[in-house]
Amino acid sequence: MDTGLQLYNTLTRKKEIFEPLNAPHVGMYVCGPTVYSDVHLGNCRTFISFDLIFRYLTYSGYKVRYVRNITDAGHLEGDRDEGDDKFAKRAKLEQLEPMEIVQKYTLGFHDVLRMFNTLPPSIEPTATGHIIEQIEMIKEIISNGYAYEANGTVYFDVEKYSKEYNYTILTNRNMEDMLANTRELGGQDEKRGRLDFALWIKAKPETLMRWASPWGEGFPGWHIECSAMSAKYLGEEFDIHGGGMDLAATHHTNEIAQSEACSHKQPAKYWMHTNMLTVNGTRMSKSLGNGFLPEELFKGEHVLLEKGFSPMTVKFFMLQAHYRSTLDFSNEALDASEKGFKRLMNAISLMDKLSPSESSDFEIGPIIDNCLKAMNDDFNSPVVIAELFEAVRIINTVYDGKGTISAAELDKLKKLMKDFVFDIFGLKAEDTSNLELNSVLDMVIELRKTAKENKDYATSDKIRLGLQSMGIQLKDSKEGTTWNKA
Ligand code: AMP
Ligand code: ZN
Repeated sequence: MDTGLQLYNTLTRKKEIFEPLNAPHVGMYVCGPTVYSDVHLGNCRTFISFDLIFRYLTYSGYKVRYVRNITDAGHLEGDRDEGDDKFAKRAKLEQLEPMEIVQKYTLGFHDVLRMFNTLPPSIEPTATGHIIEQIEMIKEIISNGYAYEANGTVYFDVEKYSKEYNYTILTNRNMEDMLANTRELGGQDEKRGRLDFALWIKAKPETLMRWASPWGEGFPGWHIECSAMSAKYLGEEFDIHGGGMDLAATHHTNEIAQSEACSHKQPAKYWMHTNMLTVNGTRMSKSLGNGFLPEELFKGEHVLLEKGFSPMTVKFFMLQAHYRSTLDFSNEALDASEKGFKRLMNAISLMDKLSPSESSDFEIGPIIDNCLKAMNDDFNSPVVIAELFEAVRIINTVYDGKGTISAAELDKLKKLMKDFVFDIFGLKAEDTSNLELNSVLDMVIELRKTAKENKDYATSDKIRLGLQSMGIQLKDSKEGTTWNKA
């Protein structure tokens, strides 16, 4: 099955023709959220990118089993298995049971992704629901000689493994540099090697989330869940493994090591990584405190925001960048996306009002071909959007009576919009009353600007106060005037 799709493989550092192991079936595993707090917009970018990939693979005729896990245990604060358990810490802070924390933030995560109109994965397994599978895998790794137990904790032996396999295959780093950047083992350290990481961690007396194991009571390390659950639901070898780029160096590197130490097979044929959403050039992250929540963005309730933006505007903003490029958040960029999305949706609603002619000034076939070519070139959504605006121009020209379109071309136009805007991008029309309100307000704001330029302050004040009495607040700044609903 050749669909002409090429995708960038982090493992080989190049674009490759997509050849699934067992076409038309495709197994795709994406690392899901750690549900000890709300997901921020950066996390959403990664899940929206994989939703696009899932949707396009399905559109291309593949039968995708999409597994996206929920990390609900075993996540310590540091990368090196030290510090507090994030779930326990949060549970204490909110005075809840750890599983109440898990439930609360899992539901929140689902709500947010639903607002972004992403499709649910085929399977959404949790770490706590797969403790047995993780223990079995650790036992296998120990019996294969790649892990050792020390005082109730089990460590992966990176030195032993890297004699036979390339530990840094995914990021191509130099082992010497990695060692130089890792602190020396102290006298008390149970680890044999500086790069060794925990597969199973011994519970402390105060540990809340704990399970019995052959090594005593404890809980799984951060990485083993994904190796165990991907093998369970997709097999020892599957097609695509994905996540944010920040996961490649540690989490995914360790996942490959665990899976190979267990089955002697590279688990995924294609490793795909999404780039980061940044704020003023800095990665949006939970720990830096620059990660605003989708809710705050929709309502405009954050110091960095001049006003609120709707979920589809935000999604459109994200699709305007390629998933492997960084994307910097700014009010101006979102403003532009809001206008762009509105133009696109307005044109789609006009499309139904067009009457076909005998002849056609426009051909839609080349636009469809270009969109398919762009998606087949590593899911290049920004190029598709540029093509869609060409279609918007055609719709507006025909609607204004400045061009003609035949019935056959009009059908193609409708199919183009249905396939790419709704099915592949997963965009949807939002409350049109709001869209109409936006257009009316843009016009009123423009009239007020003209009044002010003409020094007709009576009219400009009348407009401002009139809107205020309807609960609409105008805000003037150097960049222009924005509005907010009280
Ligand atoms: P976490 O809940 O922290 O485990 O993250 C969930 C997913 O979001 C992972 O795939 C991360 O790589 C990804 N992620 C975290 N921060 C960002 C960001 N600023 N931009 C894009 N993806 C991110
Ligand atoms: Zn993972």
